[in-house]
Amino acid sequence: MTSKGYDPIALTAATEKVVVDGTRRKYVQLGRPLRFYGGTTSATEVGCNLRCKFCFSDKPVWKPKETGKFYSPQEVFNGLAKSARKHGHKIISASASEGTIGREHLMELLDLVEESEFVYVLETNGMTLGNDPEYVQALSKYSRLHARVSIKGDSPEMFHELTGAHPDSYELPYKALRYLIDSSVSTNACLMASFSDGEGIKRVQRKLMEIHPGILKSLEIEKITLFPKVAQRLRAYKLKPESVRRDCNKTKQLNSYNCN
Ligand code: SF4
Repeated sequence: MTSKGYDPIALTAATEKVVVDGTRRKYVQLGRPLRFYGGTTSATEVGCNLRCKFCFSDKPVWKPKETGKFYSPQEVFNGLAKSARKHGHKIISASASEGTIGREHLMELLDLVEESEFVYVLETNGMTLGNDPEYVQALSKYSRLHARVSIKGDSPEMFHELTGAHPDSYELPYKALRYLIDSSVSTNACLMASFSDGEGIKRVQRKLMEIHPGILKSLEIEKITLFPKVAQRLRAYKLKPESVRRDCNKTKQLNSYNCN
C-alpha cells in the first residue's frame, strides 16, 4: 500500500472504539420513512471509515463522539419495525454512515430481521467487506439481507482525491462484490459518478463486468446533492462536480439520501 492518504481499515478500528460498545452501536434515530426502494424505513447510524468530501451526512461521520446514542440490536430492530409496520414498508435499512461497523451488532440485528417479515438493506462502501472475506461468509447465512455496495469514483486517483484514503483501497468494494456474489449474498453496486465523465463510468462498468456481467443490470448511478455544507466543503477542497442531483426541492427527504 502507498503512503498517500489514510487507511480505511485502520479508521474502521478507530471508529469502532467510538461508536461500538459491546453489541450496542450509536445511532441518531431508529426509523423514519424514506422514498427509496419504493418506500423504506431507515435508521441513521453513526460512524464511517471514509471521509468523502461530498458526504452530506456531516455529524454522524465527522463528529461521531458527540453524535447519537448507543442502542442494542433489539432496540434498533424494534424502532425500525415499528416505523416500517406503520408505513407498510417491507424494506428496512440504516444509512448516513458505514453499515458494517460493529460486526456483532449487525449480526444480532440480522438475526432479528431473519425471523421477521422484513428485508434489510446493508448500505456499505465495501471497505470492510472487501478486506475481510470471512465477514462476508458469515453474512451469507442471512436470506433476508441485501448488500448495496457503493463505489466512490472511477479510478484509484479519483477515489483518493474524493475521500483522502489510500488509492489502493479503491479496489476493496470490487473485492467486496466478488466475495458477496461468491457467497450468494444478494447484492448490487452503486457508483457515485458526480465527478466522472462517460469514459470513467465505462471504466467502472468494465471492471464490474469482469466480476460478474449480471451486476451491471442492477448498477445504480448516484449523483451528489449540493447541500450548503457539501458545496462549502467541495469549494474548500477545490473539487468541482461534473453533475449533481437537481431535484433538491424536497430537502427533508434528500437529507436522508442513502449514503454509502
Ligand atoms: S459518503 Fe458514505 S462512505 Fe463516504 S463518508 Fe459519507 S457515509 Fe461514509
